[in-house]
Amino acid sequence: MYLFAGVVDGRNIWANDLAETLSTLHALESIVGKDKVVVSISCSLLHTAVDLVNETELDEEIKSWLAFASQKVLEVSALAKALAGQKDEAFFSANAAAQASRKSSPRVTNEAVQKAAAALRGFDHRRATTVSARLGAQQTTLTLPVIPTTIIGSFPQTEELRKVHSEYKDKKISEEEYVMAIKEEINKVVKLQEELDIDVLVHGEPERNGMVEYFAEQLLGFAFTVNGWVQSYGSHCVKPPIIYGDVSRPKPMTVFWSTTAQSMTARPMKGMLIGPITILNCSFVRNDQPRFETCYQIALAIKDEVKDLEKAGINIIQIDEAALREGLPLRKSEQSLYLDWAVHSFRITHCGIKDTTQIHTHLCYSHFNDIILSIIDMDADVITRENSGSDEKLLSVFRKGVQYGAGIGPSVYDINSLMIPSAEEIAERTTKMLTTNVLWFNPDFVLKTRKHTGVKLALKIFVAAAELLCTRLAEAKKEKFE
Ligand code: GLN
Repeated sequence: MYLFAGVVDGRNIWANDLAETLSTLHALESIVGKDKVVVSISCSLLHTAVDLVNETELDEEIKSWLAFASQKVLEVSALAKALAGQKDEAFFSANAAAQASRKSSPRVTNEAVQKAAAALRGFDHRRATTVSARLGAQQTTLTLPVIPTTIIGSFPQTEELRKVHSEYKDKKISEEEYVMAIKEEINKVVKLQEELDIDVLVHGEPERNGMVEYFAEQLLGFAFTVNGWVQSYGSHCVKPPIIYGDVSRPKPMTVFWSTTAQSMTARPMKGMLIGPITILNCSFVRNDQPRFETCYQIALAIKDEVKDLEKAGINIIQIDEAALREGLPLRKSEQSLYLDWAVHSFRITHCGIKDTTQIHTHLCYSHFNDIILSIIDMDADVITRENSGSDEKLLSVFRKGVQYGAGIGPSVYDINSLMIPSAEEIAERTTKMLTTNVLWFNPDFVLKTRKHTGVKLALKIFVAAAELLCTRLAEAKKEKFE
């Protein structure tokens, strides 16, 4: 009998502590017998980046802390040889030096952040009033219609927009020219939404290069690869940022663009943030502290951004948690602990703001009904989630007795479908959804990958559907009193 020992972690991008692993291997060998241990990787190499040699932008110090797939194979080979008595001393001592530098590097530790995260322990972090009371206050100040309409965030990222980004990156255009081009794009989508009579506007996110990367680039504690691709789904790949140190926010990240957009309209402009759980789950996370500690640090950074947006007069802030479900452990016994700290992290971001500031969150395509109580516990004022694909199923949970005080935008427009339903169809379908407090109308996903023409037509129809439903509701109310 042989023991295949998966001692090199295949799911991360961190260099193995070879000395420690070698002693584990010796201990295993003493149990199963000489030459009976096969050194291996813990899982397939699908989840890690391919090869560090492709990384031209990472500095040498950070690079020495990392091991992508090729380096992990070298580690396995070096460990196996060492176990067989042919230890490559130079390889092992370079590894020991890298481990020591990672442990003591001032780039990793930020004492103020550690202290702030530690101070979170033992507290629940909840807004002082209930969501129903807050919604009442918000409806009064925001004066929104019975069924408000809004968009998830991004508008189509056109060819021209991508050109502006690459020219700015290559320093072919100045910062001034870049800002002007982005402002123009924002103005375009603001005017379009006004023309379509959408109630809560978005700025369209034209300045963003990626959902998480945009934020990670402005936070401390993150590093970026040029070729660290991993498969996300199907043929879709992503390049996750690397969280190597304590996370902090040196300055506001979105306030400039959100206030610029707000200055272009009298309608409420939604601030647009990505939440801590999604930033964590879409990054390569450090393995030298528990994941929840890192998540709390990110939550504190996002909390500061929420406060700054509120201070700057943004009264509706959406904190996307598209990847909440991605981090849910497969083992049932581990799920409640994850949901506990993940949901707590989200609450940290919006605890302490005014009742009249409305927090939205957006959850992507996924199964949520089995974790609905955790989603409610996020304590957002409005939750927008994909529904058009799963239709009735998604809301059935509320009919099965789950109490839900917040607003809900179950999505009425499937952006991936070529079929655009008529206003009557949408209104018909959503009448069934009127079991909740406040019903919002929104498309089901980001519009980034769509074309402007299709989007405009679909949005026109969904605004018409909201109006139709409002009229029907008013008529039904009248009939009831007559
Ligand atoms: N606000 C983001 C966007 O519209 C949402 C990203 C997401 O949920 N996947 O791009």
